[in-house]
Amino acid sequence: MKLIQVNEDLYNYLVRVTVKDHPALAALREETAAMPSGGMQIAAEQGQFMQLLVHLLQATRYLEVGCFTGYSSLVMAMALPEDGRVTTCDVSKEWTDVARRHWQSAGVADKITLKLGPAVDSLRRLLAEGSAESFDIAFIDADKDNYPNYYDLCFDLVRPGGLILIDNTLWGGQVVDPSVSDPDTEGIRAVNQRAFEDDRVDSCLLPLSDGLHICHKRR
Ligand code: CA
Repeated sequence: MKLIQVNEDLYNYLVRVTVKDHPALAALREETAAMPSGGMQIAAEQGQFMQLLVHLLQATRYLEVGCFTGYSSLVMAMALPEDGRVTTCDVSKEWTDVARRHWQSAGVADKITLKLGPAVDSLRRLLAEGSAESFDIAFIDADKDNYPNYYDLCFDLVRPGGLILIDNTLWGGQVVDPSVSDPDTEGIRAVNQRAFEDDRVDSCLLPLSDGLHICHKRR
């Protein structure tokens, strides 16, 4: 095995020597952690990694499938330049009301557009409205059974040279458990395989958090 085992001490060290926190991020993490689905929020170090990608690509347009309580949108809005824009999709008014409140208090609400409703519809509408190849980075982190659909739609919405990031692609290890065949796990297996076989992208499944599959749309 070429991958080291990360215990709690090592994980805490990794966070301590890399994560540069911000009060607005800490406040949203704290509020979300107390919610029943709080575990769905991305980790601070993953947020910082995604900010690094914004800087590397000099990104100005970020698309998100699965807003939840708005942490990844907040992280990315803070990294984007003044004229940068976030478009994020979610079905839950309850979760995104939390998000809106934190975007407001962090002063980035005017950078973020929320599309409330099924993300497949929102992404199709973006394409119909002429937004094909207009995003630098797309992040897929919503209902896993729809991942292959999100991948196809995001591929069309991201510009050549841009990135599609797919979250939870190791799925707590269930991707390799033959006794697990629920629609979510199958959706993740399918999208990992699709990205691997897709010669329009260069890809890497990074064992960060619960697995982040990074796909670079070739020019
Ligand atoms: Ca996730």
